[in-house]
Amino acid sequence: MFKGVLIDKQDGNYSATISDIDEAMLPEGDVTIDVHYSSINYKDALAITGQSPVVRRFPMVPGIDLVGTVSSTTHGDYQTGDQVILNGWGVGEKHWGGLAQKARVNGDWLVRLPKSLQPKEAMAIGTAGYTAMLCILALERNGITPDKGDILVTGASGGVGSVTIAILAKLGYSVIALSGKAEAESAFLTELGAAEIIPSEELAQPGKPLAKERWIGVVDVVGSHVLANACASTHYGGVVTACGLAGGMDFPATVAPFILRGVSLVGIDSVMCPKEIRQQAWDRLEQDLDLSKLSHIAEEVGLSEVIETADNLLARKIRGRRIVDVNR
Ligand code: NDP
Repeated sequence: MFKGVLIDKQDGNYSATISDIDEAMLPEGDVTIDVHYSSINYKDALAITGQSPVVRRFPMVPGIDLVGTVSSTTHGDYQTGDQVILNGWGVGEKHWGGLAQKARVNGDWLVRLPKSLQPKEAMAIGTAGYTAMLCILALERNGITPDKGDILVTGASGGVGSVTIAILAKLGYSVIALSGKAEAESAFLTELGAAEIIPSEELAQPGKPLAKERWIGVVDVVGSHVLANACASTHYGGVVTACGLAGGMDFPATVAPFILRGVSLVGIDSVMCPKEIRQQAWDRLEQDLDLSKLSHIAEEVGLSEVIETADNLLARKIRGRRIVDVNR
């Protein structure tokens, strides 16, 4: 038996409980992992609370992230004792995920733990940090270098936002942080490297098709009016990366920024992202994230605190990231 969060739906009743789970219930897969840490991302909070139909199969162990040690394997690339990371690929949605002491997965989904990272650091980064790096790689691929202008980061005090700011600042970009907690979290955001902090209300209402040009690049986790206004204020030739929907799935915009200012909108998906790009993102995280910042960004909780933490995350009461020690 092992401990884990188990989500179930019976007779229409959705439940998430800390349970003792029989090892015989582990799903199919060619690598079995002793999980050390998982984390709580926005999607995990939706899954645990049942606020959105994230879970596609019941019962389900949530947790889109895990880091652990291979305990048995028939996959050619891995051996018992290897330390591995998993982000996405539908774990915690369609396949049992990381919020448990054991996981069994397809070895093709795994990335080796980078040598310079401790397991706990890898989960402080987690899907949020890996997605932050995917957004930054997209900015770079599209020619947005630090000398070109400011970068707007939305949902700045959250998981993706906070790691994005830390990486961009280390790379020499000037970051404008947009936050609903602009005042309360100003010390935190400045410590991460934000040069300017603006309140979310500035971009939260319906805006004009084109507005004053303010930034050359955007990392957006909010969607809806914030994304539309972020595009409308992007400099000629700028690049907007869209990865989230914390404020809404809609995109109430016009084509004006794209056809009159040559702005590009780049979609970012971490779940099905090909393995080479994942590896590149993790290599760059190892190189370009100041690990000392992680102690500001991430706090640890035990498995028994996961359900309460998920509620708090959706209530916007959490700053940065939550790592989960699944063994306590
Ligand atoms: P968090 O909850 O940690 O952070 C989201 C932040 O967005 C909050 O801290 C808050 O920041 C802001 N926010 C929350 N709700 C609202 C709202 N209603 N309106 C405006 N702003 C809001 O989540 P994550 O960082 O883990 O994820 C952020 C988004 O990115 C989610 O939508 C998630 O699903 C998505 N995501 C997508 C991925 C992909 O592959 N495309 C991968 C990872 C995440 P503040 O208070 O500072 O404004």
